[in-house]
Amino acid sequence: MVIFLIVLTGCSHYAAREMSSERYLRRFLDAKENVYEDICVQMGSAYWDYYSQEGKADLATPRERFKELLMNDTLNRVVDTWYSRTALIRDSILRRRITVWHNMLTAAKVEMDPEIFDLRNRLELWLAETDDTLSIPSRNEMDSIMLRLMELRNARSKSLGFENFAEMVLEVSGIGAEWFYEFVQTIDRATAEPYAELLEELKRERGKSEIEARDIGKLFGLYYSANQGAAISVDKMDSMMKETIEGIGLEYSELNVEIVEQDLPGGIAGQSLAIRIPEDFKVVVVDDLSLYDRLHEVGHGAQYTFTTVGYPVLEGYEWCLGSDCGAYSEGMAETLARFARNDEWQKRRAGISDEDLIAQKEMLKKYMPLYLRYLLVNSMYEVLLYNDLARDHLEIWQTLDKKYLSLEGSTSRPIPFTNIIYVSYPVYVQNYLIAEVMSWQIHGTLKEKFGSGYAFDARVGGFLKEYLYSGGGLLPWQARLKKSTGRELDIKGYLSAGGLQVKE
Ligand SMILES: [Zn+2]
Repeated sequence: MVIFLIVLTGCSHYAAREMSSERYLRRFLDAKENVYEDICVQMGSAYWDYYSQEGKADLATPRERFKELLMNDTLNRVVDTWYSRTALIRDSILRRRITVWHNMLTAAKVEMDPEIFDLRNRLELWLAETDDTLSIPSRNEMDSIMLRLMELRNARSKSLGFENFAEMVLEVSGIGAEWFYEFVQTIDRATAEPYAELLEELKRERGKSEIEARDIGKLFGLYYSANQGAAISVDKMDSMMKETIEGIGLEYSELNVEIVEQDLPGGIAGQSLAIRIPEDFKVVVVDDLSLYDRLHEVGHGAQYTFTTVGYPVLEGYEWCLGSDCGAYSEGMAETLARFARNDEWQKRRAGISDEDLIAQKEMLKKYMPLYLRYLLVNSMYEVLLYNDLARDHLEIWQTLDKKYLSLEGSTSRPIPFTNIIYVSYPVYVQNYLIAEVMSWQIHGTLKEKFGSGYAFDARVGGFLKEYLYSGGGLLPWQARLKKSTGRELDIKGYLSAGGLQVKE
């Protein structure tokens, strides 16, 4: 009896202690997330100044503050301890917050390493070319600094148990390296033969023995613009954007989107910034940006504006690797953009004729293997690079061109090795390919639920809010997709819908 009592007391004592420590953890994270959000807002405002040129951008202060926050020993100890027993956390929101914090702190162990932090900052400054007083090193010097940055990123990631830096990024952003390789292979297998046949057809049509890189590039460009739907003239841009968004039942004014037309540095065409989620979202675009691309940026805004989750770490601020899944936020952006290539929308709003619509569809179907394989080259480049940094980067590009595009000797698009994307948004390019599939899948569900005129159905907005926007990062991205469409990312369905045979 006595023993029984002791055990019982012990148990309840243990439970009480756990309860109180969950309470402690909640308070601890609340405080940290207040600071985190404050820095996010400061960072967003600084980037707004940077892109809109409204004020002098101070990016250094919020960066230093992020470093101080994320490298804090107590925070790391608390998160590590709780992460190791995530399954024991009773509160599911708290469980998720710990997971996201753990992802961010893992990536910070790499990106906030003093030498990596310093090299990244220096490269960003040089590449932005906004400061005339700065002496910018030669391309060769920059390339060797870029290589040094990549080597350090790899070394730090390996010390944390990852295969390399690219795999670390894929893991902390919730994509997973293994899942991603399988995704790439599925596309590769389904498109290899149709692509080879397409090349033969092109050779016959053009009377050429070889199809060159620039031909492929041109066709990719044609596909890319056809994939944006009918062209819309600049003077109709604003009204059509508003009509499209209100047509699906989203209140345009609620989106709180501030659009500034402005030249952007580094060839960027549009940039959206969630400064304070959910109430402050801004977009900068170049003035000739297509309606599709504008809707893409505003689509980012819809995701953030209608987030009601309330925990800063789950709201999807984009400043720290691991804070959310980039593929998901690109998917949300593409989901809104995709209305501009909806059949009914193109007919009713853009006035496209039936013949033109058929021609557009035929074009897209014919060149889909080329389009996808071109994106595979881009998506795999950094992954392969980080896998073997001793290899020359142009040789890697050529290997990919040969594997996916059957190009011999010439490269499809020699992207400079030192590039702002690879410095500031490492291992991000694949997110656009994933977003293409995701938006196709979500539109499929909208059609099933609301009929073929769903682009004009005011219930659609409510659906998007409830299933895709409001929860923020409460659930992992695949779970969000499953909740809204009934299944995880359906690459096989996407390929089949494009007339491509999926091979096991
Ligand atoms: Zn985007």
